[in-house]
Amino acid sequence: MSKKAIWGIDREALELILGASRLSHPWEFAAVLRARESVIREVLFLPGTLALNQSAVLRLHMLPIDPSACGTVHSHPSGSASPSQEDLMLFTKYGRVHIIVAEPFDEHSWRAYDYRGNELKLEVTELKKQVSKG
Ligand SMILES: [Zn+2]
Repeated sequence: MSKKAIWGIDREALELILGASRLSHPWEFAAVLRARESVIREVLFLPGTLALNQSAVLRLHMLPIDPSACGTVHSHPSGSASPSQEDLMLFTKYGRVHIIVAEPFDEHSWRAYDYRGNELKLEVTELKKQVSKG
């Protein structure tokens, strides 16, 4: 597994996240992120994380360890994309990159953080067919 920092998110993965956040509203949405070649490319929806009257972050705390997972994403129906105390605890426990999407769940209302809760700048990449070998 590469230790290189995650630097980007695929546009399709981001759109999936924004769409799921809108659908879940006013409940929180949560999922696991998977990366390939240091770019987030897959969103793993967890059974039972949609439309539940329970904190999505609490559910993420109960995740089994998935070696291909690089972090988590969840929505904040409140409109603030800042991590809560509960979020910061999750970040230190699990993964390297964490995305929080706030209302109105558009391209500008999400932020990414590292495990210490410091903001990370992620580039939105377009899916390309190129495969780098190495
Ligand atoms: Zn949160």
